[in-house]
Amino acid sequence: MSGFIPEDIVEQVRANSDIIQIVGAYVKLNRRGRNYLGLCPFHQEKTPSFTVSQEKQFYHCFGCGRGGNVFSFLMEHERMTFPEAARLLAERAGVRIPEREVDDIRRGELEKLYYANQVAGEYFREVLRSPQGAPVREKYLIESRGISQATLDQFGVGYATDNWQGLIDFSAKRDLSPETLGKAGLTILSEERRRWYDRFRERVMIPITNLSDRVIAFGGRTVRSDDPAKYINSPETALYSKSNALFGLNLTRQYIREAGFVIIVEGYFDLISLWQVGIRNVVASSGTAFTQEQGRLLRRFAEEAFLFFDADSAGVKAAIRSVDALFNAGVEVKVMRAPQGHDPDTLARSGAETIQNLISNAERYLQFRFRSLNSAALGPVEKAALTKEIGDIAARISDPTLRGVFTAEAAELLGVDKALVSNVSQRTASTGNPQPSSARRQDDWGARGMKVIEAEFMSFLLAFPRLSSYAAERVTRGHFSSPKLASLFDALRAWTESDDSEDISRFLGALPDDKLRETATFLLTRSWPTETPGDTLRDFVNSIIDATETTPNLETLKRALKEAERASDTDTARRLASEISARVIERDAGAVSAS
Ligand SMILES: [Zn+2]
Repeated sequence: MSGFIPEDIVEQVRANSDIIQIVGAYVKLNRRGRNYLGLCPFHQEKTPSFTVSQEKQFYHCFGCGRGGNVFSFLMEHERMTFPEAARLLAERAGVRIPEREVDDIRRGELEKLYYANQVAGEYFREVLRSPQGAPVREKYLIESRGISQATLDQFGVGYATDNWQGLIDFSAKRDLSPETLGKAGLTILSEERRRWYDRFRERVMIPITNLSDRVIAFGGRTVRSDDPAKYINSPETALYSKSNALFGLNLTRQYIREAGFVIIVEGYFDLISLWQVGIRNVVASSGTAFTQEQGRLLRRFAEEAFLFFDADSAGVKAAIRSVDALFNAGVEVKVMRAPQGHDPDTLARSGAETIQNLISNAERYLQFRFRSLNSAALGPVEKAALTKEIGDIAARISDPTLRGVFTAEAAELLGVDKALVSNVSQRTASTGNPQPSSARRQDDWGARGMKVIEAEFMSFLLAFPRLSSYAAERVTRGHFSSPKLASLFDALRAWTESDDSEDISRFLGALPDDKLRETATFLLTRSWPTETPGDTLRDFVNSIIDATETTPNLETLKRALKEAERASDTDTARRLASEISARVIERDAGAVSAS
C-alpha cells in the first residue's frame, strides 16, 4: 500500500501521530465525552456531526458518512497520495524517512511542483537579501511600507529582478527544468521564440502557502509606478486553486480560533501590516470575491467575520461580493469602517489600538449596507431591489435563528413588513440548492440498509477485534444479509489473523475500499461497555444465528423488496430479488414434480 515508504517507517509514523492534532489543524474540535466533535470539513453543515476518537484514532461524519484514519484524512482532505500523507506526518512527528525514498517521492508530479515553488521561494528571498534587492528591501519595504526584517522573514517575502532568466538559471542548478517551473506557474513559454522566460519580474514576491505550510503559489507586487498590473498572481496550477486558497491562514488560523472571529482583508500587505502590530486573526482574499469553499474553510475556525476593506467604493463592492459566501457558510458578517482615504495597511501602521477601535465599532452587515446606500432616500423601485437583495441573502442563511434575526433587522431598516422580506427569502430558498440534511442519528443503522442486529454485532466486533476469531467459529459471512457487513466481517477476521496489535486504525488503513472504510468508522462511533465482552459476544452470536435460520416466507420477502426499492437501496433490492426468484423457481419446480 505504501509503495515508496517501508512498512516499518509507516508504522513509526502512525504510532507517533495523533489524529486529534492532525485533524485539529483543519477543524475546530471540541471535546464531547470520550470523543471530539467539530464541523465536517467534507460537507457543509451547521451542526457539528464530525466525530474524532483519540482513543481509537479514527474520524467519522454522521452527516456525509466520510470516515477513516489519520492517513485517509490527509489523503481525502489535502488530496495527497499515501506517500505524501506519510511524509507530512513523518515531518511533524520527527520520524526520518530514508533519503532515497524522499527522492522517489519527489519524482511524483505534485511533489515536483511543490519543489519548484520551494526553490523559487528560496531564489526570491536570496535576491531580496542581495545587493540587487537592497533598494527594494530598504527603501520600498522597510522604509516606505514600514515592514520589519523579521516580518519579511516570517512571510518569506522575496524579490524578482528584471532578469528574464534569473529563476530559470537558479533552478537549473537544482535539477528543475523550465517546463516544470512552467507547470508550477513560474515561467512562460514564448510561442514565437520557443523560449521559456520568468513570469515574475521587478516584483516583490509573496509566497502563498497551504495549510500544510508548503508554498503553492506567489503573489507579485510591482515596484514600478508605471506598471498598470499592480499585482500578478500565479495562475491556477495542480497545486493552486484561487477559489480555495486564503493567504495567511496557515499562520493565522490558531489566532482566529482563539479570537473566535476572523478579520478579512483584501491585500497581502494589509495582512502583513496587521500581523506586525499584533493583530493576527486575519486572512486575505487576494482581491477576488469570496467563494463558497473559502467561506466553508473559514467557518471551521470562526463563527464571525469582520470585513476590513478600503473606504472607497471598490471596497464597498468587495464587501458586497463577499457576504453571500460567508452567510451561506453560516458565518455572521460585520464590516469595519475605514475612515475615508485610509486602507487597512495604512491604518495598521498607526497601531493596534486604532484597529481595536474599528473592531469595537464594526457595523453589522445590514447596517453597513443600508448606510452605504443611504436607504432613507431610496425610491420605491430601489427599495424593492434592495428588499430582493436582502431577501436573497437571508435565504442562504441556513441557521434558522440567524436567519430570523437577520430578517427582522432588515424589515426594520427597510421600513417594510417582516413578512415581505421572508417571502422573498422563501421564494429564493425553494429554488435554490437544497440544504444538506442534518446529522443522522447515531443508532440509525436501518437507514443504511443494515439490519440492526447485524450492524450492532459488527460494531461490537470492531470494538473488540480479537473476539472476531471466536465469533468465526459459529458465524460466517453468509449470516449477514448486508453485503457490506459480510465483507467487513471477512476483512476483520483476515486482519486479526495477520495483525495482533488490536489497533483498529491500522485495520481502517488496510481496508481496500472507501465505502467499506466509511461503514467501519460509522460502526466504530458506537461505544460498548468493556465489562464482560465474552457474554455479549455469546448473546450476539446466538441472536445472529437465530435471526438467519428462521427463513422468511415469500410474502415477507416481497414486502422487503418493495421497501428496499422505495428506499433506493439497490444492493438489498438486488439480493432480495434474486432470492425471491430462486424461491419461485424452487416452488414451481416442486409444483411441477408434485403434479
Ligand atoms: Zn461530513
